[in-house]
Amino acid sequence: MQAEKLETQIEKVKSQLLKLGEMRPGSLSRQYSACQKPGCKCVDPITPQKHGPFYQLSYSHRGKSTTQFVRPQFVPQVRKQLAAYKKFRALTQKWVALALELSKLKLEEARSAVSQHPRTR
Ligand SMILES: [Zn+2]
Repeated sequence: MQAEKLETQIEKVKSQLLKLGEMRPGSLSRQYSACQKPGCKCVDPITPQKHGPFYQLSYSHRGKSTTQFVRPQFVPQVRKQLAAYKKFRALTQKWVALALELSKLKLEEARSAVSQHPRTR
């Protein structure tokens, strides 16, 4: 691929990054639980109904992993933030891939320029 094309793609990645909204890392899981208290619906012998759903958000930051509960009304917002973070990661990885290719290309160009004109060094 040509250097110009790579540069254009990098610019595109940058502008997509600028458009990202709120984000946060992590994954959301839905859980149900049984409190086991006698007489509670969760331990009903015929039709036990567990408590929940509870939404748990897990993430790690700076090597430390954390889990926290998320209230159901915040779940849609958190899902959006998680999706934005995934997009952020994908875009930065794409940027790195393009940057590596561009760097390689430029080094090769420089090398071939030198070998074509060995006395101009
Ligand atoms: Zn219960």
